[in-house]
Amino acid sequence: MPPTPEIAELKNQFSEYLRRKKYRNTQERSNVLDRIAEIDDHFSADELYLYMNGQGDKVSRATIYSTLDLLTQCNILTKHRFQGESAHFELATRMPHHDHLICTECGRIVEFREEAIDGIRDQVAKGLGFRPLSHSLQIHAVCHDPTTCEHNTSD
Ligand SMILES: [Zn+2]
Ligand SMILES: [Zn+2]
Repeated sequence: MPPTPEIAELKNQFSEYLRRKKYRNTQERSNVLDRIAEIDDHFSADELYLYMNGQGDKVSRATIYSTLDLLTQCNILTKHRFQGESAHFELATRMPHHDHLICTECGRIVEFREEAIDGIRDQVAKGLGFRPLSHSLQIHAVCHDPTTCEHNTSD
């Protein structure tokens, strides 16, 4: 996977944040961000742990959890709570402003972008006297084709 130019920018943003908050900027933390950029999908802390150790990185679960927290706090990662699952993360820059459709049977996650939803969000917020900033929408549904759905379960 070729490194994207944006990863350098994200690493700057991260070290800047760590410096400001007086957290230690360790090589390990920086390495976690590099690996996340390789994944290009949603992932849980456990999936990242398995991936990194599979790549030969000797990184503890504690480091992964704390680094994911820090990356979420400085908005490099977006944290999702999909129904019935542990928290999933993704780079905030990888696909801006998208929502998720989740199959309640097999757990398949489909990302989509629908501008009409942004319009409704703005309208609702303004109607209630708020200034809209962002939103998060999850549609819970079932796959159209039960065989595809079953297939996705075995992954
Ligand atoms: Zn997503
Ligand atoms: Zn399904």
